[in-house]
Amino acid sequence: DFAMMMESADAGVWDWEIGNDYNAFNQHWCDLLGLRLDEVESHTRFWISRVHEEDAIRLSKVISTHLATEDSVLNVDYRMRHAQGHWVWVNTCGRVVAHDHAGRPLRLTCVVRDISKRKRAELREQKQVQLLNFMNRAQSVFLHEKNIRHSCELIFDELLLLAESQFGFIGQVVVRETGEKALFIHALSNISWSAETSEQYRAYQRGEFFFNNLDNLFGHVITSGRVVMANQPKHHHASRGTPGGHPPLRRFLGLPIKIGDETVGMIGLANKQDDYTDEDAQFLHPLLDTLGALFYALDVEKSRLNAEQKLRYLAETDVLTKLPNRRAFIQRVHGFYSQSSNFTIAIIDIDYFKAINDQYGHQVGDEVLQEVAFRLSSYLRSDDLVARMGGEEFGVCLYDNPGAPTLDALRKAIAAEPMRTSEGGIKVTVSIGAGLVRPSGSAECWETDLRHADLALYRAKKEGRNRVMWHLPSAVTPLK
Ligand code: GH3
Ligand code: MG
Ligand code: MG
Repeated sequence: DFAMMMESADAGVWDWEIGNDYNAFNQHWCDLLGLRLDEVESHTRFWISRVHEEDAIRLSKVISTHLATEDSVLNVDYRMRHAQGHWVWVNTCGRVVAHDHAGRPLRLTCVVRDISKRKRAELREQKQVQLLNFMNRAQSVFLHEKNIRHSCELIFDELLLLAESQFGFIGQVVVRETGEKALFIHALSNISWSAETSEQYRAYQRGEFFFNNLDNLFGHVITSGRVVMANQPKHHHASRGTPGGHPPLRRFLGLPIKIGDETVGMIGLANKQDDYTDEDAQFLHPLLDTLGALFYALDVEKSRLNAEQKLRYLAETDVLTKLPNRRAFIQRVHGFYSQSSNFTIAIIDIDYFKAINDQYGHQVGDEVLQEVAFRLSSYLRSDDLVARMGGEEFGVCLYDNPGAPTLDALRKAIAAEPMRTSEGGIKVTVSIGAGLVRPSGSAECWETDLRHADLALYRAKKEGRNRVMWHLPSAVTPLK
């Protein structure tokens, strides 16, 4: 009867006489675990010792709760070690089938099934959901902050957990000016083991760490553009060993991040407990695509910023003298009106410049303009503003602080030494028209103030050139 049932069942059967702790198992149960029937011992300690330690406590609890309450069937999943060493997920389902006269359970009978396949699929699904979740997080952090490094850091610990790896890194390929490739490290496990490597880790934390040498196992991922799976790294042809003190590298999985055919980065993972498999590599593939997309987006963003900067520079800069142009001058003049102190607006015009062009040629005229521009900007302080307004005319704004360069000193700085040109030294003078501006808080009057400086310049020309003239407000009587 019972023995018959045990034999004929096409599932594992476990039968436990609780009082005298006698466990009986059928052939199927033995097959599940790769055991021979005559190897199996009857006391509970025997089979419990084969349960995975992460499941053992939960399993004992479920069983004792069932014995104490008997309110439903016993139904529990856990892992057991197969005779060959791997883990088998089993489901145990059953109930108490006999009681003593006081109603206490005497005997528990259960069916035991191998559910490894289903469990593995479930776990893979769970991990996939987890992977998708943190890919989303990495993406949204990137969209908010335009910061790949932060995105990588954010997902890194979870990535190591998911990949069951002990340490690793995420790197992006950069091309040096020499044409050589290096890896910029976005995320890195801290496995420093010496003063030098702790310094490297600090460099990483500052966002300044590169792997410069790619002639090694992980560099091979970049140079070959392929997955590098080395479950015995020492025997891999690309291996150059690890530096002294490096924690032992028992297993390595390197995954290339690609944009089209180009390898733009990689994930390096090390020291999984079991061998890395193709399944591991496939599982992480969506993450590689996401990181590739982020690297690409960052490139696009960078070149957009670069192009913007270049355009702004071109729009605001005079090509010949590299000074701000008239339009930039007008924009920046506004800033001076919001300051609290007085300031000076002046127009500087080269005297008889047409004659220089006529005598030496336009090319030399250009050289003179460059040299004048250079002297003006070296003479002024960095807060002052100097721009080429057009032709041979320059505009300046000076903060009127004590010790401010006086305009007359500026005039002398031009007149003192001949300009050096390809045709030799040429004596040049300038006339300067200036006005003192009291800050009104409003920049509305910049046009008027500029016109006043222009009028003063006109007077400087009329009165003989090579001089500074100030605009005199009509309301104020000039001092003698
Ligand atoms: P003044 O002392 O009255 O200022 O006489 P000027 O000759 O300096 O003034 P004018 O306005 O008569 O001539 C300015 C000249 O500057 C005319 C123009 O050909 C020349 N010029 C304007 N822009 C450039 C330039 O970019 N390069 C060169 N080489 N010459 C320029
Ligand atoms: Mg002139
Ligand atoms: Mg002029």
